[in-house]
Amino acid sequence: MAKQDYYEVLGISKSASAAEIKKAYRKMAIKYHPDKNPDDKGAEEKFKQAAEAYEILSDENKKARYDQYGHAAFEGGQGGFGGGGMNMEDIFSQFGDIFGGGFGGFGGFGGGGQRQARVKGGNMRIRVKLTLEEIATGVEKKVKVRRKVQADGVSYKTCTTCNGSGQQMRVTNTILGRMQTATTCGVCSGTGEIINSKPNGSDAQGLVVEEETVSIQIPAGVTEGVQLKVGGKGNEAPGKNSISGDLLVLIEEIPHDTLKREGTNIHYDLYVNFSEAVLGTSREIDTVTGKVKIKIDAGTQSGKILRLKGKGLPSIERYGKGDFLIHINVWTPQELTKEQKQFFDKMKDDENFVPDPKKSDKSFFEKVKDMFS
Ligand SMILES: [Zn+2]
Repeated sequence: MAKQDYYEVLGISKSASAAEIKKAYRKMAIKYHPDKNPDDKGAEEKFKQAAEAYEILSDENKKARYDQYGHAAFEGGQGGFGGGGMNMEDIFSQFGDIFGGGFGGFGGFGGGGQRQARVKGGNMRIRVKLTLEEIATGVEKKVKVRRKVQADGVSYKTCTTCNGSGQQMRVTNTILGRMQTATTCGVCSGTGEIINSKPNGSDAQGLVVEEETVSIQIPAGVTEGVQLKVGGKGNEAPGKNSISGDLLVLIEEIPHDTLKREGTNIHYDLYVNFSEAVLGTSREIDTVTGKVKIKIDAGTQSGKILRLKGKGLPSIERYGKGDFLIHINVWTPQELTKEQKQFFDKMKDDENFVPDPKKSDKSFFEKVKDMFS
């Protein structure tokens, strides 16, 4: 796409003086100013084009290069825009002054005073280790933190350097004309406030470190790596208008001896001996929320899974609970007496000892249904 001639953009002739160029740009900038043309992409584009044209034509060297080579003078890097154009922030920070007092307040320039930073204290981070049982039910944890707080007796007053605005305006004369830039006040760091008096023992900002016990409500179902926020329990910041940082709590899971978590489900390996698997038995299982008595039917196969619905963990995002899954492992005896060995030798070819997975699966599912429905 061919770029429009900079003189045409500003609506001036090639012989326009510096004053005429500036005047033309000011007219365009006011006409297409985003405050006057909200959500008008066409106006924004014209506003940007005018700024780009002015950036070149208001600079004697760039203007001379443009007059000789046209847009080619600024293509392929090396000065100018390199084709990227200017963004709105660039325009306001470079040419904010062109608008004079008429647009006070836009982008924070000209008005003075409204841009005072509300200083927030630093966040603090702690780790909290939780057992699976605590995760299952949710828990209140009391932790001791050492946080910076405003010392007793400290007082603050309005910064005399910036008069409380938090900003210093700097006016410089450049080839673009008078430019005004706002910088954060170096005396108060933008807070607009400085120390009036502070007690002994506090730091330069009137802060002291204090130990505090903070109570953290941990919801059920949290997972390793989740970060909870306790608002306002981080470090305090100096000044009357400041706000405290937050206490960020990183959750860690203590591995369980016998249970394994998988999302909201919990897995448990149950070992029964050979006779129990053959004859059936019952067991009391420690789930994370209490004991549950389960029945293991006669003829239960190794590898079968019993599902205790809703006995897993609650979900932190969703309704509902996971399941508690019991994996049945049949322990095959590894040492036998002479008599036992003779018995199994005899059974080796017995038809009841011939594996029949299809039959077993069917009966298994029927039994599970009976148990938990
Ligand atoms: Zn200041």
